[in-house]
Amino acid sequence: MSTTTTTYSKKEIWRWLQEVTDPEIPVLNVVEMGIARDVTIDEEKIIIKITPTYSGCPAMSAIEKEIKVKLAEKGVENFEVKKDFSETWTTDWMTEEAKAKLKDYGIAPPGKTTADDDFLKSLKSTKVIPCPYCESLDTELQSEFGSTACKAQYYCHDCDEPFEHFKCI
Ligand SMILES: [Zn+2]
Repeated sequence: MSTTTTTYSKKEIWRWLQEVTDPEIPVLNVVEMGIARDVTIDEEKIIIKITPTYSGCPAMSAIEKEIKVKLAEKGVENFEVKKDFSETWTTDWMTEEAKAKLKDYGIAPPGKTTADDDFLKSLKSTKVIPCPYCESLDTELQSEFGSTACKAQYYCHDCDEPFEHFKCI
């Protein structure tokens, strides 16, 4: 007899998902990134719902694959990873802990995306991003796109170091 889906608990699945990290940012797992959204278990299969961060983000297919590899590794047979576009991923879904880890990793974390009206949006676009290394505000945007589309490239004039900022969406 093969194992059935009811052998597993949601808690267990969530714990395994926490072992899957973002290939772009190895210090963060897909749960704290807010990418893994939901786990449902019925008699037929386990469904893991994920919401892609940026639609064009090349890391997403890698993440989907890594989730599949992880579950297969744990012996889970009947599962499906479903991309869910009904909600738009926002950096607000990242846990505070995840943002702190980002900063420790040398990437300036995203702020809150509470700006709804145009005035606030225009403010946000000129917002000063503090340096993740020395907290200096004397930083300069060098490129809207860093190593990936999700990140912008900045330069700190105080410690003379380039750094990346995970952009708010
Ligand atoms: Zn600095």
